[in-house]
Parts: sequence; structure tokens; C-alpha cells
Amino acid sequence: MLHIPGVCPHCARECGFDILCADYYSSQKTIAELRKNQWSCPVFGMEESKNMATVYCGGVCAECHKPVMLCLEVDNANLKHLRECVRDPEKRYNGNTPKIASMAPPPRQAWTHPSLPPEVGRAFSDLQRMVWSETTPAFILIGARTVLEKVCSELGANGKTLFERVKDLREKGILAGVLYEWASEIRRWGNAGTHNFEGSKEDAEDLTEFTKLLLQYAFELPARVKEAREKRKVSG
Ligand SMILES: [Zn+2]
Repeated sequence: MLHIPGVCPHCARECGFDILCADYYSSQKTIAELRKNQWSCPVFGMEESKNMATVYCGGVCAECHKPVMLCLEVDNANLKHLRECVRDPEKRYNGNTPKIASMAPPPRQAWTHPSLPPEVGRAFSDLQRMVWSETTPAFILIGARTVLEKVCSELGANGKTLFERVKDLREKGILAGVLYEWASEIRRWGNAGTHNFEGSKEDAEDLTEFTKLLLQYAFELPARVKEAREKRKVSG
């Protein structure tokens, strides 16, 4: 059995992959090694040894059992042992950990933007990973509310409760119109998660999308407008 550590592109869990089959083993030999056996004809190859072999594998996530294709790079010295482990379920691979050179489906990328305050960016990346790994929806609703708390403190809100802080930002003209509505929704759904442990998978996905829009309107768009203005100033 060959198990490769990695983050699943389906469920985003860090549980690795069980490899079921492998093919297209290739090892890159140096031109010097190739010439040893072929005196009479021209030889093309690498100048320096890469010492790495490439293997294409099919496997499943150890947690959600969905399929993945992996291209692995492994030390030439471990290739034979690795092949034996793929063929024999009883054999455990104990060589150097192969490197995942590429993966299909591709790994998921959490949305973020340089304009987001670091704490907000980190919290929202965690929130997206919770959605992918199908964490209990109430926790995601509570998580979205926590992101909103951080947004309010970054935007300089005053007030004892989150309700008061969101209202304060509306009065200051920072969270106006539709932004205020979104923030209020996030606060309300977060409360439902906290007090009654309510919420479906769809609620969690919708609220994460809402939270993304809030972050885009509150941080990304103003940053892009500022950048565009500065560019115009420089050019003319
Ligand atoms: Zn998975």
C-alpha cells in the first residue's frame, strides 16, 4: 500500500491519498550514463543527473474517498520499493516521501486579497476550508460572524454588542445600503448558529459567499479604485 500525504482537492482535508495504481514510470538518466551503453550513435539526454523519477498514479482521498490523479516525483533509489508497494497492499512504503508535482482535480485555492487586513484574510481562508471539508454548518455560521466581528474592529466600529457596532458603521457611512444589509444577515445567521445550533449546508455556503462579497466591497474595491486613481495620476 502506498499512502501519499497531501491536501484533498475535494474535501480540503489534510489526510493524504491511498494510491491504487501507477503507470508511466520514467527516470531521467544523464547523458554520461546513456553514453556508457551506446558508443556508436549520437545520444541526447540531461547534462546533470536529476536523480528523480516521475510516476503517474490514480488514488483516492483517505477521508472522502473521492478520486485523484497525481504526478509524483520520487528519488530513483526509492522507485523499485514504491512500485512494489503500489502492487502489494500488504507492503508499507517507507522511503523518502514522494513530492506531488501536479494533481487533478487541481488543489483548491482559498480566496483572499492583499487589501484584507491579515487577521481578516486568515479567518476567511479558514472559513472557506470549513465549507470544503463539510464542517457542521452551525460552526461555519458562527465562523462567518467572527469574520464580521474582525471586520468591524478593523473599520473602527464602536459599541458593546455586534448589533451596535454594525449600526455604528452604518451611521458613520462606512457600511451603507446593501453592505449594511449583508452585515446584518451575517450577524443574524451567526446568532442562529450560536444560540440554536441551526443552519444547513446551503446556509453555510450562502453565508460564506455573502461574507466574501462584504469583504470585496469593504476592502478590495476601495483598494482597486485607489490603485486606479494613482495609476491615472502617474500617467497624466
Ligand atoms: Zn477528500
